[in-house]
Amino acid sequence: MRKSRHSFNAVERRRESSRDALREDFVQAVQAKTHTKGGMIDLRQQPWWTPADRAELDAFAYELVDAVHTHRDSGCELCAAGYPSCPVVRAAITRVVEWRDPRVLLSRAAWLRARQDRLDEAVSEARR
Ligand SMILES: [Zn+2]
Repeated sequence: MRKSRHSFNAVERRRESSRDALREDFVQAVQAKTHTKGGMIDLRQQPWWTPADRAELDAFAYELVDAVHTHRDSGCELCAAGYPSCPVVRAAITRVVEWRDPRVLLSRAAWLRARQDRLDEAVSEARR
């Protein structure tokens, strides 16, 4: 979880930005730079990260960005003081990352399984 934190610096910095700009930064942050065991990847470039995955993450990010914006508008003293990681903002980011990371593993595994099944089927057909 901690490894993904730096991706969200832009989100945390843009305290004065509009909801749309914040939302765009947030969606970019959660999809463009994702750590895996193999290093940084861009989810949008992965064949196993489907349009459905993207749409769900967009919807999730949309809701959480609204919540963060509402929180900032409500007069959080830490956010107003420029505190770098207000616990409420951090919790919102963490919630998205905690949804995303297992989804990345599941989507990749499902895609690889389907590919393996097709290969196994082709080999089986060739042997008949
Ligand atoms: Zn705050």
